[in-house]
Amino acid sequence: MKLNEPVTILKGIGQKKSIKYGRLDIVTIKDLIEYYPRSYEIGVKYTQIGAIKVGVTCMVKGKIIQKPVSIRRGRLVITTTKILDETGEIKITWFNKPYLSNQLIAGTRIFIKGKATIKYGVIQFDAPKILGEKERAYLADKNIVPIYPKGKGLSQREIRLAIKQSIDYAKDEMEELLPKEIIKSYNLITWVKAVLCIHYPENEKEIEQARRRIVFDEFLIFQLGLLTLRDGQLKNRNTTLYKKEDLYKRLRLNLSYVLTNAQDRVITEIIDDLKCEYAMNRLVQGDVGSGKTIIAALAIGLTKENGYQSAFMVPTEVLAKQHYKSLLNMFEMVGITLGLLVGSLSKKQKEEVYNKLKNGELDVIIGTHAIIQEGVEFKNLALVITDEQHRFGVRQREVLAEKGEYPNILVMSATPIPRTLALMLYGDMDISIIDEMPPGRQVIETYSVSPDYHLRIYKFIREKIEKGEQCYIICPKVDEDEEGILTDVVTYTEIIRENMPKDSCIKYLHGKLNSKEKNSIMESFVKGEIDILVSTTVIEVGVNVPNATVIVIENAERFGLAQLHQLRGRVGRGETQSYCILIAETKTDNSKKRMELMSQVSDGFIIAEKDLELRGHGDLMGTRQSGVPLFKLANIIDDYSILKETNKLAKIIKADKANLYKNTQYRRLRLEIENYIKDKMLYIV
Ligand code: ADP
Ligand code: MG
Repeated sequence: MKLNEPVTILKGIGQKKSIKYGRLDIVTIKDLIEYYPRSYEIGVKYTQIGAIKVGVTCMVKGKIIQKPVSIRRGRLVITTTKILDETGEIKITWFNKPYLSNQLIAGTRIFIKGKATIKYGVIQFDAPKILGEKERAYLADKNIVPIYPKGKGLSQREIRLAIKQSIDYAKDEMEELLPKEIIKSYNLITWVKAVLCIHYPENEKEIEQARRRIVFDEFLIFQLGLLTLRDGQLKNRNTTLYKKEDLYKRLRLNLSYVLTNAQDRVITEIIDDLKCEYAMNRLVQGDVGSGKTIIAALAIGLTKENGYQSAFMVPTEVLAKQHYKSLLNMFEMVGITLGLLVGSLSKKQKEEVYNKLKNGELDVIIGTHAIIQEGVEFKNLALVITDEQHRFGVRQREVLAEKGEYPNILVMSATPIPRTLALMLYGDMDISIIDEMPPGRQVIETYSVSPDYHLRIYKFIREKIEKGEQCYIICPKVDEDEEGILTDVVTYTEIIRENMPKDSCIKYLHGKLNSKEKNSIMESFVKGEIDILVSTTVIEVGVNVPNATVIVIENAERFGLAQLHQLRGRVGRGETQSYCILIAETKTDNSKKRMELMSQVSDGFIIAEKDLELRGHGDLMGTRQSGVPLFKLANIIDDYSILKETNKLAKIIKADKANLYKNTQYRRLRLEIENYIKDKMLYIV
């Protein structure tokens, strides 16, 4: 297929260029066709000099009427000339291009593109672009010019040419993705037309139509991909039989507290799922500290008394150990056997756990990715729980699920996501929300301050650590950046050391350390050996250190609200009043609003909604971490209405299996979905 041929078959793209394209993830002809403009320059037309408007990009052709002169002002070489057409003349200035005074010859014609400015009441051009012949030919008579995302060593012109060649080359093989009825009933344009219009629109309406069609396809493929991946689970009959509830009730009675209404509702939903004829596939969302762990523990208890095993997978070793410790007591009291499986165990220790899982000596295994490694077999796995789900890919959950015979799946997430979005991200999962905090939870006092406050903050931290409390400091970066604008972990640690008592223990943590180092630092913080931990956001997930009472977040304006909220949740886990200090430059209204919101609101769901309003989808999807963008053009917030349309359509298509799998009209769609799953979905983190 021409679409799948490498870009090197095009004129002007050899080995070297293809590497440059490769950096933009462009490997095939199809990739080029799907390299969509980042924006458009609209209304770039030849304008007569007399009609030039200040601040509007335009093209002008005129005769050079003055030999350009260059003068030096300090480090700057200023070259000026004047051009003329029938309607008037205009002055042009360039900076640090002395060679122009030789290149531009009085009496010849010149074509320029730029924005006019006004200086001392006179209209003139500052540093306009001089258009060569090829560029002029391209721009001729076009009202709208596509602007492509920049690629190192690739000019706009080259990219345009490559795309043009690709479309010409593959046009006869550009097969429609959707059946005619769908195109018609959803008011879409054809795919071929959309491709042409996105790259070569005649007017803004065409851009809009093209966008709609391409976004529609991207969402539809995504949704169908999700449904396909989950297909297995959807129709899974429950092979397990849950009848007894005594142990579960005892576990509940043994608790030193009463479940909140929200917890009670959620565990009831889970029990109903477990008893029903289909396997459970449920997402539990609850803010940090809302008490999700106990929900998991109760479901595990229920599973044990009905004769089955459970697996509890968490993203980090520290978290695994923490859960292990906190559940051990509770479980031992009622005779549930619990094992721990993490990467740092010796081979022998692992073998031992493997054996116990296989022969059923262990009722529950808690661990990291180690649980899904080969060699791990269960006797009768019936419940799979993943905590802090956004760190796991769909595929990893699948692998774990495959270790049992259609086990029940429970996913727990502390990232509050508005329900509408959750529905899309989690496809067909049922969703439970713990929207209530246990009583007596302290409100973390949150302050937003400007960087001028550093000395006062150091003093504040000093007082806290002298009382034996612990502190987190979060920086956005690991190393110093060129501009030195953002605070980095390494430099900051030195600064903070100078400002703290000599005997205080200050350590840093970031993603570039190896996992052994990370674990040991985190563990010693948990034990209280470290007073101040300077870290990137790697500490974000689920760690529980009740003695940590202060979290300072540097360059807070750089973080999404949902992320700030997650980070804030690291403190306020004990009895002692805790504080979150956001150090932020609040130059824009938006960042001011965001910081105010953080100081005033402690409900994660409200923050998540506002985050959407104020900054777009931010880090809700967690896809940025994985570095695999899900969509080339679509944006789940801006294109939300299309998202909803495709959500419905995906379900209709999927329900009518005969169509999707047999009808030739769907052939290409089917292929696209398969590829999409392979390329993108298996790596969603
Ligand atoms: P998260 O939802 O963030 O995982 P945890 O499960 O770690 O929250 O619970 C946070 C703390 O709240 C734990 O110390 C837990 O024992 C406690 N907790 C949970 N539910 C209740 C409740 N209903 N009443 C009082 N404390 C609770
Ligand atoms: Mg938790």
